[in-house]
Amino acid sequence: MITNEKTALIEQMEKQRFLPITKETLSLYQSYGALIDQHDPDELSLLLFYEGEYFFRLGDLNQALSFLTRCLQAPKSTSLYYLDALSYNIIGLIYSYLGQETIAINYLLQAKTLSTDLKLTRECAVCCTNLGLIYGQLEVYDTALDYFNQALFYAGDSANQSYNIAVLCHAYRGILYCKNHEYEKALDDSQRIETLMQGNPMLFYDASVLNLNVRLYDMHKNDKALKETLAKLLTLVSSSMDFLELSEFYFDICDYLLEKEMSEALSSVLSYIQPYCMQSPLIFLRYTYLKYQVAYSKKFCLASDYLHYCGQMIMLHSRYQEEQNQAKLYSLEYVERLRQTKNDSELYREKSRIDQMTGLLNKYTIQFLVEEDLSKASPAKQSALILVDLDHFKQINDTLGHLTGDSFICQTASVIQNYFKDNALCGRVGGDEFLVYISDATDRSFIILQTEILRQEIHRRTSERNITITTQASIGIAFSSEYCYNYETLFSAADKALYRAKLEGRNKVVVAE
Ligand code: GH3
Ligand code: MG
Repeated sequence: MITNEKTALIEQMEKQRFLPITKETLSLYQSYGALIDQHDPDELSLLLFYEGEYFFRLGDLNQALSFLTRCLQAPKSTSLYYLDALSYNIIGLIYSYLGQETIAINYLLQAKTLSTDLKLTRECAVCCTNLGLIYGQLEVYDTALDYFNQALFYAGDSANQSYNIAVLCHAYRGILYCKNHEYEKALDDSQRIETLMQGNPMLFYDASVLNLNVRLYDMHKNDKALKETLAKLLTLVSSSMDFLELSEFYFDICDYLLEKEMSEALSSVLSYIQPYCMQSPLIFLRYTYLKYQVAYSKKFCLASDYLHYCGQMIMLHSRYQEEQNQAKLYSLEYVERLRQTKNDSELYREKSRIDQMTGLLNKYTIQFLVEEDLSKASPAKQSALILVDLDHFKQINDTLGHLTGDSFICQTASVIQNYFKDNALCGRVGGDEFLVYISDATDRSFIILQTEILRQEIHRRTSERNITITTQASIGIAFSSEYCYNYETLFSAADKALYRAKLEGRNKVVVAE
């Protein structure tokens, strides 16, 4: 029953990706979030991806980056690797919006490589289109064209999709041809679009097509069609909540109208997009809008208007630069984190989510799940991270051999797992080191008592081949607090406590201060 419900929700979420965002969109993710097992990395990574893409479409780039990076870090089954390709692609777009083209291209290429490996042709088409767009904005037309051609190769001429990547590619390529004054070729693209769109309702993503048509009608001096197309473009802006995605077309058309000195049309476009830009949290949207207002008023208005917009732009300028700097710092931080992720994700792929020897969660999976849980914690909630390390384990290896050593590790793992059952996440994080994470550890003294009992359960004397062996462990506990709230700080606090337990004679539980 629940599985059916989940499958239905996943289908709905997948559809929603290609539809305009509505007020119900978020509640879709919330329903899915409420249904899933929060300790299943696969279900979590799906949710992280959908939420990340949603925030991206809303223009909340920081949130989007945070969700998508976590999605990339999530250990996942092979069947979900495509989420990594999609995430790299969106992260690439985010950096291009932040004006960091180098980083953007890097991510898009990563997305492209992964999509090629996974034979995701449609995704390859999307990456190539985005690469083409960035090169187009940088006015490197040959490279841009090359990418659009690749994108069209991958897209094929598959019609009948609400999100038709082939239409988009033809439109982009056509616009590029117009910019290069190769109108014959642009016309050819426009005709291909017409064929592809036959029988399809108005596409949601058709700002690019309208943009191409404006240029072609203008070239043919077809004033009536030109006016109609501009009007269509203007109504599109008010019908969509995803302004960010359309913004590039509006700015591009502003460029065109400015160049052609079509003052009346430019004035309408500017007044239509004004509220979307000026009320956006994204400074770059406001800044770009003002840039066009300044250019427009300089050409067509009174000096006083011009000065007014110049003033506004100057006021925004330092904040714009600040945002750019922030974005740079942000990207450095993420580059470092993702570099780490890349190594980790290669490791996930080699190992599975589970530690093969003991059946507990492996190091990467437990870290991911703990980080996810901590990221959702309310300030009032307290969690506990417990590190268990066997004492003098090397001696066991040395006297009884490695294989017997292995079986001691497995026995300890079962003691831990059976003791906590489903009330904690249990993982193996080193040779003879285990991590137990208790999400709700508000009752500290109870947790300390439980850990003390665990220590006694592990403590055992066994005889093998006439040699008496004592298994015992030292344990460090750390509780989350306002100073200790992420995996790293919590782990290092527990590790220090463990170290103290070893120093103070071993076979002991120490609580971090
Ligand atoms: P301490 O009391 O200070 O923890 O001493 P220790 O001898 O337990 O040393 P430590 O925890 O630093 O090292 C754990 C040893 O476990 C190191 C390595 O030889 C051994 N080991 C690591 N992985 C495995 C494994 O998979 N199987 C076996 N049999 N031994 C392992
Ligand atoms: Mg040890």
